[in-house]
Amino acid sequence: MDKKAKTPAHVAEVACTGCGTCAAECSFGAVHLKHFSDDQVLCLVDAMLAEKADEKIVVFACNWWS
Ligand code: SF4
Repeated sequence: MDKKAKTPAHVAEVACTGCGTCAAECSFGAVHLKHFSDDQVLCLVDAMLAEKADEKIVVFACNWWS
C-alpha cells in the first residue's frame, strides 16, 4: 500500500493462497474472500449442525499449516 498516495491495498491474486487471514484481521470488514462470505460460512455451519448438533464440535482450522 502506498500510504502517501492513499491508494488501497491490492491483492496479487496469483500469490494469494486463500488463507483468509486478511479478511479475518480487517477490523473494517473491507476484505472478503470469494465464496466465503459471512452468510455462506454461517449457512455451512447451520448445515453441519442440522443433525445431531449435540454430538459435534465445529472447528475452524487453517488448511495450509499442518
Ligand atoms: S487470503 Fe491470505 S494469502 Fe490471500 S491476500 Fe489474504 S492474507 Fe494474503
